Amino acid sequence: MKLKIVVASGKGGTGKTTIAVNLAMSIENAMLIDCDVEGPNSHIFFKEPMVKLKDVSIPAPVFDLDTCTLCGKCADFCQYNAISIIGEKLLFFEELCHGCGGCKIICPVDAITERDHHIGIIEKGGNEKLVLYHGLLNIGEPFGVPIIRKLKGFADDSKTTIFDSPPGTACPAVESIRDSDYCVLVTEPTPFGLHDLTLSVDVVREIGTPFGVVINRDGIGDDRVEKYCKEQNIPLLAKIPNDIKIARLYSKGIPIVEGIPEYKTLFADIYKRIKEVI
Ligand code: SF4
Ligand code: SF4
Repeated sequence: MKLKIVVASGKGGTGKTTIAVNLAMSIENAMLIDCDVEGPNSHIFFKEPMVKLKDVSIPAPVFDLDTCTLCGKCADFCQYNAISIIGEKLLFFEELCHGCGGCKIICPVDAITERDHHIGIIEKGGNEKLVLYHGLLNIGEPFGVPIIRKLKGFADDSKTTIFDSPPGTACPAVESIRDSDYCVLVTEPTPFGLHDLTLSVDVVREIGTPFGVVINRDGIGDDRVEKYCKEQNIPLLAKIPNDIKIARLYSKGIPIVEGIPEYKTLFADIYKRIKEVI
């Protein structure tokens, strides 16, 4: 079975997507899954438009108020506070519902049924060498994890899969990292970069996924990230220089490894190092 490698970062704007796309393009027989369902942008590096593949829905409860006894068990159960009993009224806040289905199971009088609540779509694109999947969460929907779970199902065991994780350390990032073989944490060599990196490291250690660090825009800050990695015994997989040519390519939607082919070795080396430690 081929590796599943997730590229993550403690905050947005670190160049995580650039690294995920270029890493995928530097590996033979790879595929790319963009799990940043609130703002996917891996597709900007491909010429062909994305094509809709499927809708994603979650089960939302429907309450039969004639049967409901206002016992409050569903409200007590719902950890997202989507249900409240106020006086003689049951209130349902659909925007808080995560579609777990628990309230339906817990209701003692079968007053709850379910309907599909559409939360987004999955699209497919890429090119003849690299297939790309991404998800789009509907505007206003609070919870993209069900789409991420569906996206992960598109990973093909015969290919190395690169996942572009949502930024941060909340549920969507955790869901993206879970079950992967390796996590590449992308950061910048600045005090803010170091702060966000330490949060990501705590989360990835908690999940138990082996991980290493890539420093992006090397040269803009100081060496505290490198010192931290050394102290913490974290592999430093690569340093991508703060190169104006890379920024120009990004602004035109051209992958680094296409615009400056010499960088292909750097990205291929990241993959080589990951394979050595797994
Ligand atoms: S389905 Fe889950 S999240 Fe939604 S209201 Fe019921 S218990 Fe709460
Ligand atoms: S658990 Fe069932 S009966 Fe009790 S308040 Fe909820 S819907 Fe009504």
